[in-house]
Order: sequence, then C-alpha cells, then structure tokens
Amino acid sequence: MSFLLSLRNRFSAFMQHRNGVDSLGKFLLFVWLILAILNGFFHSLVLLIPELLLAFLFFFRFFSKNTVRRRRENAAYYEINQKFRRSVQKFNVRLRDRKLYHFFRCPLCRADIRMPRKVGTFQIRCRRCGHTFQKSFKK
Ligand SMILES: [Zn+2]
Repeated sequence: MSFLLSLRNRFSAFMQHRNGVDSLGKFLLFVWLILAILNGFFHSLVLLIPELLLAFLFFFRFFSKNTVRRRRENAAYYEINQKFRRSVQKFNVRLRDRKLYHFFRCPLCRADIRMPRKVGTFQIRCRRCGHTFQKSFKK
C-alpha cells in the first residue's frame, strides 16, 4: 500500500505545473475513442493516422508545461463549442416552432427575426437596427 501511495505522490509531483486534462483534452479523448472503435471494425490506415495524431496531441497537451498556451487553446475550443451548442439550440427552437412562426434574418444586420406564421406581404422592422423591409410569405 505504501508503494502505491509513494507512486501516487511521485506522479502527483511529476504532474505539478503541467496541463493535465481540460475540456479540449476530454474532447480529443472522445474523438480518439470513436476513431479507435471505428478502426476496430475497418482496420484502415486512413483512420489510424488521425487516431495516432489525436493520441499524440492529447498526451502532448496533458504533459505540457506551457499552461498559458494550453489555457488559450482550451478557451478557443470553449468558444467554438459554445457557438456550436447555441446553433444546435437555435435549430431545435426553429424545428419546434416551425408551424407557429416564420424565421428569417434582417438583410442589413443579419439579426434573427421571428414573426407569427401568416400568409401575405408584410412590412417588417428590425428591432436591432431599425431597418424596414418587405417580406412575402406563401402558404
Ligand atoms: Zn437589422
């Protein structure tokens, strides 16, 4: 037991001031696992190369002492992840409310606009930029 404890202490000392696992690391591990499972079926070199690259990247980031740079990479990953999550959420709302509302964008500022689903031509004023434009809806 004391051998395990000393091993644990030594590893913990080794990992001090190193990056370890962050959300980008977890994502890399997840993609790596998926590729490994797929490659278990297909035994393809096309899958093996990205699999090895991901493994290398994961361990490089895990043991890296340049934590400032790793944190910056993780923050960039976080931004991309949030953008993706927001777009999925927006897509789900549009899918859910597609029978109740028209969804479109302001031609000037690209703001998302939603209006009750009616047939005809309407004068629409963007709430963000104040631009007024016409929009026709058919059944
Ligand atoms: Zn606008």
